[in-house]
Amino acid sequence: MSLPSHFEPGHEPPHRPRDGALFFLARGLDLVIEERDGAVVIPTGASFPTLMADAHFLGVLDATTDCYAVSLPPDHPLPAPLKVVAARTLFKRVDEARFAVVGRALAIAEWDLMHRFCGRCGHATQLVPGERARRCPVDHTPFYPRIAPAIIVLITRGDQMLLARNATFPEPMYSTLAGFVDAGESLEETVRREVKEEVGLELRDVRYFGSQPWPYGRSLMVGFTAEYAGGEIAVDGKEIAEARWFSVDDLPRIPPPISIARHLIDSFIARVKATR
Ligand SMILES: [Zn+2]
Repeated sequence: MSLPSHFEPGHEPPHRPRDGALFFLARGLDLVIEERDGAVVIPTGASFPTLMADAHFLGVLDATTDCYAVSLPPDHPLPAPLKVVAARTLFKRVDEARFAVVGRALAIAEWDLMHRFCGRCGHATQLVPGERARRCPVDHTPFYPRIAPAIIVLITRGDQMLLARNATFPEPMYSTLAGFVDAGESLEETVRREVKEEVGLELRDVRYFGSQPWPYGRSLMVGFTAEYAGGEIAVDGKEIAEARWFSVDDLPRIPPPISIARHLIDSFIARVKATR
């Protein structure tokens, strides 16, 4: 049994490209991979010599393998057997360290693609050496990768939890409530506002739980737990189609283990069961 992979993030690429560097080629939320006997293989830079100049160094996997993110030009030919797959389908198909690198690569590739031109004057931007930044050579406006923080909260009442069905979920599934932080808002204020807006409830004991980068929406999910303090469930009918109290013994379909929503739910289930 080998040790789990370890990823060491970094900005500065090695002076000379090293053999075997992995290229995480992103196109939107998709990634270029190869499949060998059903296993996912991340292509190496050797397959894409012309893209090296546009590659962003991400860090080193297992002390020796350099990792780069590249935004794949839409018209770039993909030699067989390379193919494009939705990046999130790679969960459990690659190890945890590689899956996290995929997330970083998507975010960096998107930032690079979206800031080729200055938002102030329209001039082409340039990469800043030694930094993860692009800058306008005319007015010097810098463009850094940005993330949009969002809260996610599990509301409990005794040994029950509130789970909601999002109107846009493709299949019936119940999850915790979530929402983006508004400019000027604290995380705790976002928690109370989102819960009030989406299900009409008041909260107490809002507590930090943990966080999870969510590159698929350039987001950072900041998890909280909170106790029900009052109010009747009244869903907004737009974002939330239905919200109900569930006992840990009678759960509906809940999110997959990849998500912080599931970590929140599993942690509460374990806490309730431990007190029995
Ligand atoms: Zn400019």
